[in-house]
Order: sequence, then C-alpha cells, then structure tokens
Amino acid sequence: MKRRTFLRHTSLATAAITMPWIRRFPDDRKIGIALLGLGNYATNLLAPSFAFTEHCYLAGVVTGTPSKGKEWMAKYNLPASNVYNYENFDEIRNNDSIQAVYVVTPNALHAPFTIRAAQAGKHVLCEKPMEVSVERAQSMIDACDAAGVKLQIGYRCQYDPTHREIMRLGQERIDGAVKVIDTNFSFYGVNGSNWRFTDPKLSGGGPLMDIGVYCMNAARYTTGENPVAITAQSFKTILDKLPGMEETISWQMEFPSGAMANCTSSYVANANYIKVHAEKGGFGIEPAFSYDTSLAYHGRDQFSHPEHHQQAAQMDAFAQNVLENTPVRTDGKEGWRDMRVIETIYEAARTGTRIKINW
Ligand code: NAD
Repeated sequence: MKRRTFLRHTSLATAAITMPWIRRFPDDRKIGIALLGLGNYATNLLAPSFAFTEHCYLAGVVTGTPSKGKEWMAKYNLPASNVYNYENFDEIRNNDSIQAVYVVTPNALHAPFTIRAAQAGKHVLCEKPMEVSVERAQSMIDACDAAGVKLQIGYRCQYDPTHREIMRLGQERIDGAVKVIDTNFSFYGVNGSNWRFTDPKLSGGGPLMDIGVYCMNAARYTTGENPVAITAQSFKTILDKLPGMEETISWQMEFPSGAMANCTSSYVANANYIKVHAEKGGFGIEPAFSYDTSLAYHGRDQFSHPEHHQQAAQMDAFAQNVLENTPVRTDGKEGWRDMRVIETIYEAARTGTRIKINW
C-alpha cells in the first residue's frame, strides 16, 4: 500500500472519531450503491473511493456501453445481475442488493435519471450542479419526496474538514463579521471537446455551471446565508469556442448580514481559491476546490488535511443518512438554492441589472 493510501485509510478511522459527520456505527452495516454514467468522474474518482468508505460499497453500474459493463464486472467483482443499461435501468426496483443510485452524467440528464431512480425506490446521490434550471431541480426534489427516498447533491467540499473549518470561522464570526469574500475557480478549458465545452443543452452553461458553483456554494457556507441581491458580468474573447456559453463570468453576491462576495469563474484562466476578509482578520483556502490538496490559512497559521478523502467522506455520510434515516447535509434543497442563484446570475449578466432574490 502506498504511503498516501495508507494515510488516507488510517485517517478515515481517526476521522470517524474526531469528525461528527463521519460517525461509526455500532455494527458494520453498509449500503450498496450503483454508479450511473461511467465517465471520467465515476471511473477515476468515485469508483476507487469505495475502497476508503466504511458504510457503502460499489454494488452495481448503469451504463450505455456494454463493453464498460463487462470491464467493470471484472474489475469490481460485480454480478451480471447488477449491471444495467439505460433501457432496462428501471428494473433496478427489483434488486434488493442496490439501495442507492449515484447519477454521474452530464448536467441536463441529472433530473431524468434521478426521477427514474427515485421511482424505482432507490435513494439518490447526484452530482453537482444539481441540474440546469430551478424547475428541473424542483422536479428531482418532488420525485424523491414522493418516493420517500433521500437525495444528496455531490458537494464534496462540504464534507471536508478544511472547508468545515472555514464555515466555522465565518459562521461563528471568529474574526468578527465577514465583510468581503473573494473566490475564483477557473481552468483553461476553452479548447475542450466534451459536452461541457460544446453542448449547452447538456451543460446548461459554461464555467459557472461546472466550477463557479463551488465558489457560490463556498460563499454561502462561509456566511451561512443566502444572497439577497446579485450583479454579474460575462465575457467572451474567443468567439468560435464554447457555443451558447460564457467564457468568463464574474458575479457579486450581497448577503443579508452585509457581507459581499466577489466571484469569478473562467475557462481561459487558472485560479482556485477562496479568501475571506472579516472585521478583525482573514482566512481562506488555496488551492480550495481540488480533490485533496486544500491548503488553508487563518491569519498567519496554515492548516490542511491531506489525508482526508472527500469522495469517500461524502458517500459515507450519505450511507449513514440512509441507514439511520437522518437528514442529508447537502440535500436537494441545497442544490436547488444554487440553481436559483445561477439562474439569477445569468439573468443579471444578460440584463446588466442588480437583481434581488426573495427566499
Ligand atoms: P463525462 O463526460 O466524463 O461522463 C459522463 C458520462 O455520462 C459518460 O459515461 C457518458 O457516456 C454518460 N452519458 C450518458 N448519457 C449521455 C449523453 N446523452 N451524452 C453524453 N454522455 C452521456 O463527465 P464527468 O466529468 O464524469 O461529469 C459527470 C458529472 O459529474 C457532471 O455533472 C459533472 O459536473 C460532475 N462532476 C463532479 C465532480 C466533483 O468534483 N464533484 C468532478 C467532475 C465531474
């Protein structure tokens, strides 16, 4: 076992004692999760993460590519009866070894698959952004409520101890009231060829949908508030790329306490931070939104949790919610709120006006 792997493994046991959201059960109950959509995130991040979970395991897959089904059966020792395609997926309702479905498709397919999973009686984890509109996000909440199943949106950072410390510092006003937040998540993806960069119907937008959502969510959990007014500006310099999407977008969120967040997300630059400026001091994280390299500061002190495994912690938290029938931290409503802010940002950028949000 590599040192890093070993550290992660042992640290989860330690984390179970020290982190209230990773609580050990008196027994070793686990739920079976099926991954739906075997693309990059499911293949390279989620599937390997099950090795570090305590309360869930990879029980099955749903894929449109038969050869992938065979590969995954061999690699993860899955029975053929737990491999579905998009046509026979609804039959999962008859499979008692799968309790939850994790939707990891392009954004605009989150609602149809979440609804089908809920109607099949399965709990649902769904990737961020929740969908591409408030209306579609609401349809997911409604379907899960009607079926009596739980819904988690994959906001992995909210299960990360580094981000949770930022939440504590902000929400408990350790340095006085938060006044200004600067946050930016950007990467040079303008020449990318997958749906994110080429198909606005599937992506719902550009960097705001894909990575700006991290900045928005972080500003919301740092203040513990929802923004009440938005202004925004979007830009494009390479006109024949990113059809129907923004290339760079900046937006400002005004919070009820008076805090203001300046946020940017771009596909032509590189940035990855949140910096929080409070009355008596400051704190932040840079890099902030990567999978395992968060490095935080509070004044002159630095801290990080390199051993933490975000995907494992997020999936384990959900498994515990299911097993103990407790509320999900990043539930459908949390994803819905970000969708509401996203729609308002696009509207503010389009109209050049300051738009109020009544919650
Ligand atoms: P991807 O393109 O690599 O994978 C998408 C999968 O969906 C593929 O297996 C593809 O075959 C499947 N699919 C099913 N129907 C499809 C259709 N009609 N068109 C295209 N693909 C279809 O994408 P990804 O990077 O794995 O992202 C998937 C989701 O996960 C997105 O919502 C993304 O925002 C999210 N994501 C989250 C994180 C995170 O850190 N939480 C990281 C990466 C991606």
